[in-house]
Amino acid sequence: MYPATAFAGKKVAVFGLARSGLACVESLASSGADVCVWDDRPAAVEKAEAAGFMAADLRAANFAEFDSLVLSPGVPLTHPDPHWTVKKAQAAGVEIIGDTEVFARELPGSGARTVCITGTNGKSTTTALIGHVLKSAGLDTHIGGNIGTAVCLLPPPQQDRVYVVEFSSYQIDLTPSLAPDVAVLLNLSPDHLDRHGTMEHYASVKARIFDNQRSGARAIVSVDDQWCQMISAQVPSSVDAVRMSVLQALEDGVSAPEGQLRDQRAGKVLAEIDLTAMATLRGRHNWQNACAAYSAARALGLEPAAIEAGMRSFPGLAHRMEQVARRGRVLFVNDSKATNADAVEKALSSFERIYWIAGGRAKEGGIDGLAHLFGRVAHAYLIGEAADGFAGTLGTDVAFTKSGTLAQAVSDAARDAASDTSAEPVVLLSPACASFDQFTDFETRGEAFRTAVMKLDGLTNTGNEAA
Ligand code: ADP
Repeated sequence: MYPATAFAGKKVAVFGLARSGLACVESLASSGADVCVWDDRPAAVEKAEAAGFMAADLRAANFAEFDSLVLSPGVPLTHPDPHWTVKKAQAAGVEIIGDTEVFARELPGSGARTVCITGTNGKSTTTALIGHVLKSAGLDTHIGGNIGTAVCLLPPPQQDRVYVVEFSSYQIDLTPSLAPDVAVLLNLSPDHLDRHGTMEHYASVKARIFDNQRSGARAIVSVDDQWCQMISAQVPSSVDAVRMSVLQALEDGVSAPEGQLRDQRAGKVLAEIDLTAMATLRGRHNWQNACAAYSAARALGLEPAAIEAGMRSFPGLAHRMEQVARRGRVLFVNDSKATNADAVEKALSSFERIYWIAGGRAKEGGIDGLAHLFGRVAHAYLIGEAADGFAGTLGTDVAFTKSGTLAQAVSDAARDAASDTSAEPVVLLSPACASFDQFTDFETRGEAFRTAVMKLDGLTNTGNEAA
């Protein structure tokens, strides 16, 4: 934790007292700011009061007295309707910011550098990968933001410290002075439109990650979807832009269409890295994350060989195509974070012979959009509320078993995969569903998968060690 010195002597209202909100309150209070906290949830208010902070119902407050309103990123700023605190702050002309802005105001002049990552998918993986590569090369690196540690709980800014920070669109919206030394935009597809209204608005918020970058800063942006393409054409010319693609080889930029990462400038090859042998970076979507990580690490001065070494030892993130164990040739993969068909598509595309565990609480559209990948599925094991619906979609195209529970599904799938003669049969939990019918969250579901796998006899090692 560091004191938010930019707010010393200011009067600040903080609404939203979850983990990052409370951390921010501590940062503000320790600098001598006069902080007033509130939340719609009485339990959160009580917790803040117990921690010694002054709670006051902001509905009754005179907002003209405040210098700033610090809002939790979970609170609607624009859609479907501005929250009542937003309306009050706007009426009183009070700035509305997030904990990430409090963090950003401590950076100028500190000598610390920031790498900020956004996009619709892959943010956490890329943030963790960049953090790992930089740490492996010996840089004083700290990871936080939308992943892991709240930004106000990171150690204070100082010379040569590097922060690798994941930004959701909500956080970008609340960080007007965000000026990353390295900014990454991975991809854009329709998501969170309930909170952004239109795709145009969502894309315009994401594009803001590049807006304040200083001359010579690095902007890393994909050209693989139409929205990112449009944004890449608008990056300010004072900024050093690096384009990346996993769909085509770029003459100028970083690309990996077949998993061979190539850094090319004006047609000249500067570096090549084989991503196909990296166990935790399987699949085209991960090659995109790797292109971004390579480009970010280069921007901070790392040599390609050091980046490659860092990538090779990346342990991967839990619950995202996480290789849990091997049993002979069979690989067990936990992709519990894949709660929708889009995410499952990435996993099904990444393996050839799959014993697929799916189901839970169904999402709109189910697995209808995955039919083109059913040929890779040797057998499906259906669990939870979605079992009947998914069985209907699989029909006669894919053999399936209604296993009911995850533990039963692991047992069924492990038995069947054991007699498969292909090079690498994969037992894959990639549910295409929310977990709430049987588990509290996707993490608990992923841990239950791991526990069930670990109980199997004859495990040889974890997947990562084998690669
Ligand atoms: P986020 O933090 O943006 O939600 P994660 O890194 O947690 O992303 O990955 C979530 C899921 O999204 C993964 O399980 C994977 O299926 C998919 N994914 C990861 N990287 C990408 C990418 N670059 N493009 C598309 N999908 C991705």
